[in-house]
Amino acid sequence: MIFEPVIGLEIHAQLRTRTKIFCGCSTAFGAPPNSQVCPVCLGMPGALPVLNRQAVDYAIKAALALGCDIQAGSIFARKNYFYPDLPKGYQISQYERPLALRGGLEITVEGRTTLVGLTRIHMEEDAGKSLHEGFHDSDRRTYVDYNRSGVPLIEIVSEPDMRSAAEGAEFFSRLRDILVWLGVNDGNMEEGSLRCDANVSVRPVGQEAFGTKAEVKNVNSFRYLQKALEYEIERQIAVIEGGGRVLQETRLWDSATDRTHSMRSKEEAHDYRYFPEPDLPPLVVDAARIEAVRASMPMLPAERKQRFVAAYGLSEYDAGVLTQSVELADYFEAVAAESKRAKLAANTISGVVMFMLKDRNMTIDEFPVRPPDLSTLLVLLDTNVISNTVAKDVLGKMVESGRDPREIVQTEGLAQNSDEESLLSIIRRVIAGNGDAVAQYRAGKAQTFGFLVGQVMKGSGGTANPRLATELLKRELSNT
Ligand code: ADP
Ligand code: ZN
Ligand code: MG
Repeated sequence: MIFEPVIGLEIHAQLRTRTKIFCGCSTAFGAPPNSQVCPVCLGMPGALPVLNRQAVDYAIKAALALGCDIQAGSIFARKNYFYPDLPKGYQISQYERPLALRGGLEITVEGRTTLVGLTRIHMEEDAGKSLHEGFHDSDRRTYVDYNRSGVPLIEIVSEPDMRSAAEGAEFFSRLRDILVWLGVNDGNMEEGSLRCDANVSVRPVGQEAFGTKAEVKNVNSFRYLQKALEYEIERQIAVIEGGGRVLQETRLWDSATDRTHSMRSKEEAHDYRYFPEPDLPPLVVDAARIEAVRASMPMLPAERKQRFVAAYGLSEYDAGVLTQSVELADYFEAVAAESKRAKLAANTISGVVMFMLKDRNMTIDEFPVRPPDLSTLLVLLDTNVISNTVAKDVLGKMVESGRDPREIVQTEGLAQNSDEESLLSIIRRVIAGNGDAVAQYRAGKAQTFGFLVGQVMKGSGGTANPRLATELLKRELSNT
């Protein structure tokens, strides 16, 4: 029997507000434990929540970008459970009436494009953080840090529309790109700003009904998600093939052993006793507010990519690379406009510049070569003042020193040499010094020509105009 996985993801994304969702405490990461707390986010009796307007606007922005229907009225509820990191004894979360319904996100994996539907997006507050210490009963301690308590989140729930671990990882990654692009999430998975719960089941190919799912909690990287899904799919298939039944349960991913293990079964699941939060009125979002948020949105990556293809004649690939972030897309457009050489700008940025960024673990904002200087360099290259090899060299120097490309070319004598006399003297020297190669060339071994051209380029310190040098070399070889 052949099995097919069915995957639905629930993604928690921290909204990039300065303050928490129901109080004025800071959301900044990394502060000393319990230094960013107040009676509201500590759940003191009598403290009242006030909804953060910016958090709502960010949630609306994400929902619009994902094609969801924003609900005119939504309701915060209390989700009751006990855990030390939850000081109120309940989490405020939207339940029966979320902020947004439906929507979807298109993903492409191995040439297959799928529209992954979204079920809903709702707003909620984060819990605090427990830190466990010690291995033996005698020295075991748990500390709680409530700085994160009350940080605003959206939870994005997908339909069970994914059919492979790779699709799951791709969906998570595309979603991150969009949220970061919009500026509503910082994308920082190590700091917990983006986390994923993965729901997985398997069914025999051809069967319509879904199998029983297991939920893998709190996966915080694309690679871990892919591995956790792969492990879970294999595990469930093995259970069924061994004659067993997959249990509905919550599991945890252990990146140390590359396995998932059971955390609690359905029977141990909480009864959350949801009820509407009496201290908050229903959240009402009118059309004017939705339009105001829409007007503040940047053009979405997919749209901008298509515009790059249409307006600048870029390949889908280059356009895709250049729309990985708003900053990169803006950088490209600035260079394209200034240099008036869009294709050359696209090739250079998606090629050598991206390579340099990766190599130096930098973002484009941190790249020391700003658009005007890169434009100057591209014009020098395109007008044959310098050769390709020299351009790369100069770019390297610009990155290291922040110097102006014209200045580097001038002071280091790197301008392309198109002077016949000086090129001929280099060529004659190369012919005289490489008797063997010259003889082989004349005997009909055409490949040696490339070697001789290389020697001429080398002899000129990379500055020889390659077209002219090739022409002159050919002539000299047939003359003598
Ligand atoms: P629950 O009631 O356990 O919360 P939901 O129906 O609300 O389950 O779905 C939660 C998530 O699990 C959603 O992302 C959904 O797409 C996914 N899901 C639901 N059923 C399955 C299934 N049989 N296999 C895989 N994923 C599923
Ligand atoms: Zn607070
Ligand atoms: Mg559910």
